[in-house]
Amino acid sequence: MDRRNPPLVSRMAPHSTSIFGEMSKLALDLGAINLGQGFPDTDGPQELKDAAWRAITDGRGNQYPPVHGVPTLRSAIADHQKRFYGLALNPDTDVVVTTGASEALAASMLALVEPGDEVILFEPWFDVYEAIVDLAHGIRVGVPMNSNGLRPNLERLSTAITARTRVILLNSPHNPTGTVFTREELQWVADLAIKHDLIVISDEAYEHLWFDESRHIPIATLPGMFERTITVGSGGKTFSFTGWKIGWASGPADLIGAVRTVRQHLSYVSGGPFQWAIAEGLAFPDTYFENLRSDLLMKRDLLGSGLRELGFDVITPQGTYFITTDVRPLGFTDGLEFCREIPHTAGVVAIPHQVFCADVSIGAPFVRWAFCKQPAVLQGALDRMASTFTP
Ligand SMILES: *Cc1c(COP(=O)(O)O)cnc(C)c1O
Repeated sequence: MDRRNPPLVSRMAPHSTSIFGEMSKLALDLGAINLGQGFPDTDGPQELKDAAWRAITDGRGNQYPPVHGVPTLRSAIADHQKRFYGLALNPDTDVVVTTGASEALAASMLALVEPGDEVILFEPWFDVYEAIVDLAHGIRVGVPMNSNGLRPNLERLSTAITARTRVILLNSPHNPTGTVFTREELQWVADLAIKHDLIVISDEAYEHLWFDESRHIPIATLPGMFERTITVGSGGKTFSFTGWKIGWASGPADLIGAVRTVRQHLSYVSGGPFQWAIAEGLAFPDTYFENLRSDLLMKRDLLGSGLRELGFDVITPQGTYFITTDVRPLGFTDGLEFCREIPHTAGVVAIPHQVFCADVSIGAPFVRWAFCKQPAVLQGALDRMASTFTP
């Protein structure tokens, strides 16, 4: 008998290549400056490195830690949600530690979505969402971020809901657009979730990365929403240690219980000593979180003003690691074409929004640039582009 060919299950076939692989390889081959992938090029606080080191040396977390997370970290997560958002959580039942926000999202999807259930996603979306809905045999339903201002199209959200809708997957601050949902926008989502008895999975990986007048509001804090919301956080994004992969989900005991059931059969446990370190980070004084933002804001403004000077239409982000530009003022019509060309012509890598869309027209002219890089790196990218794009 021949082996089945190809071996990959068909629902995952569309997910076998990633734009990040393609673009990172281009960056490497061409020596281009990579503003594609969203990870900081400087590490987080030395205190946390010391804390992880201490945990390893003291023998805390070197063997399988408790399945749902080290109690000290679960308490620290509960304290953090109380301190910043006024949310009261029981760390024994309402919190689960995960292998990054990614596993929290995947486990939530696998725990809640029956085959054929519809999951609403704001489009463009974080690329992992597509794959995890397919893994769960769910049906993706996209709701566009309006091309004018990159705000959620709430009328389309209202009409996208059907009898099969089970979950709204919310992400604010939003990757890739940098949009921070306002209280009014969140209230619209909440009203629909309550009216149609939906669950909201709220990806708050960038909860501390917002700027100017914007503020992050967890949808779980809106009236009637706590009991139907799973809130997801990322130690990687909050403490600039994306390689440690400590994340979490919190919410009511029945929803978190469902997530725990699935998650224990995925990675079982992970990151033992890092769990202890992240617990210390969550208790940092407010100045840590303020400095994280102000450092990133400086970088946003450096890259944003530089891109504007080059002639791009810059949509200033309210949060996240990412700036979006419209490439049409530079004579391009298509963001993907632009991103495939500039590593060769300008020696810079960026990511087109359309790879985060099922409906390519939603993201067509938009390009995402990561600004979580050292100022010299951002300036270097701008200098390279200046010699390419100056008429
Ligand atoms: C980076 C990111 C994640 C994944 O976070 P990890 O903690 O690294 O797994 C989830 N959601 C969004 C929107 C992200 O940008």
